[in-house]
Amino acid sequence: MADHCIFCAIAQGKSRADVVLENDVVVVFRDVHPQAPVHLLAIPREHVPTLNEALPATVAALYAAAVEAAQKEGCAQRGYRTVINVHREAGQSVWHLHLHVLGGRPLRWPPG
Ligand code: 5GP
Ligand code: ZN
Repeated sequence: MADHCIFCAIAQGKSRADVVLENDVVVVFRDVHPQAPVHLLAIPREHVPTLNEALPATVAALYAAAVEAAQKEGCAQRGYRTVINVHREAGQSVWHLHLHVLGGRPLRWPPG
């Protein structure tokens, strides 16, 4: 665990979050400032700062959990979007890898 990392604290149950699913590798919880009716964050339990440092197996586990969570939330067939912001120009603001899962409304393309 990285010191003062809010997502490490959530992964370890030390900080509250609305968890929708979890397994040995990944925790999926609701974003505190949702941008859509469904806005989840899938994170690895292990501290990984950005996608650049992630092992392929970790990325695969995040996407598998995102699909499972989208099915659970009822947007898997309607449509949903997965996004990983990497570093500042993409808007990354929490330095623990997270995969956004957005759905429950029509989503415009391209994003800003
Ligand atoms: P980023 O901008 O790094 O791609 O996304 C970070 C996301 O984490 C934001 O959408 C923000 O609302 C969410 N977030 C930041 N702190 C917390 C928190 O303590 N709890 C939850 N559930 N979400 C958080
Ligand atoms: Zn962390």
